[in-house]
Amino acid sequence: MFRKVLKLSVLSKFDVSNVSFFDVNRAIYRSKNLKMFKCLMSSVCKFDCSYCCNPWRRGETLKPEEFSKVFINMYKKGIADSVFISSAIYSDPERVMEDIIKAGELIRKEFSGYMHLKIIPGASRDQIKRAAEIADRISINAEVPRADMLSEVCSVKSRYDVERRERWISKFSKKYGITHTTQLVVGIGETDLDVLNFAEKWYGFGVRRIYFSPFRALKGTPFEGRKNESKKRVVNLYKADWLVREYGYNLEKLKAVLNESGMFECDPKILVARKFGCKNYMEIPGVGFKTAKLLDNHSLLELKKMGVNIKKISAFCPEQKKLSLWL
Ligand code: SF4
Repeated sequence: MFRKVLKLSVLSKFDVSNVSFFDVNRAIYRSKNLKMFKCLMSSVCKFDCSYCCNPWRRGETLKPEEFSKVFINMYKKGIADSVFISSAIYSDPERVMEDIIKAGELIRKEFSGYMHLKIIPGASRDQIKRAAEIADRISINAEVPRADMLSEVCSVKSRYDVERRERWISKFSKKYGITHTTQLVVGIGETDLDVLNFAEKWYGFGVRRIYFSPFRALKGTPFEGRKNESKKRVVNLYKADWLVREYGYNLEKLKAVLNESGMFECDPKILVARKFGCKNYMEIPGVGFKTAKLLDNHSLLELKKMGVNIKKISAFCPEQKKLSLWL
């Protein structure tokens, strides 16, 4: 059983979330605060997403009772403290969603901690409501930013169906006070502008986060010969996303610094600072909340002692602030 669980747990790495380090000995994903059992119910898939390895080989499947038993054991032994249930589409989508909910319900009988349930494309409105009732977070994968790209990548998924479900997800997440997220695979032909346009719409649905999964050309899939997406591009997209969510940057400002091909040529914060200047410390590249607070409250000498790079900061420093910094 451990080998099966390990395989399904490894394959869940394509569902990006707030945990990143995989502990192979325990089949769990870790972050600073979480020990998460993130696992697929099944790796058998009837769908045909061109970048995914699941439909093109034999897979493994866990029954809801098996999944919940494995997690509860891990929880009782202190190995895992949170759970994320996802799955490939091994049967009719409603049946798969039903199994995910069943595993979640069984777990809820003995566990009240963090639970994330993946919403399957094709899940019914009532199933999404039931998932929202028991989970802390639910998510549906949008996969690609443009509708025309989705039908190219997968013959059975449609943007209309996914967005219809996202509206239900948004409604029931609000009703039950939980969060919802989504994820995109990036590097299969979309531009950064496509991603920004997508973000504009989906933040309108109330998603808490958009995760980016860099495209990897997997052996045996129709996209085998393509180029892997670079880490740098994904980092730039996360930076742009962070500027919007945490610093309140306007999406139009970010769109204005894209090159002719609709891409960020480097760190979007640097591009915005160069084009529009900085009105406060927070807008200076390399300055986060912590450093901005330091700049406001310490003398130049103190900042130097703390190791703050004054030269780099003063290049972007707004004039009035620059004066106060050097006084
Ligand atoms: S639905 Fe698509 S991405 Fe998900 S497991 Fe099936 S083929 Fe892979």
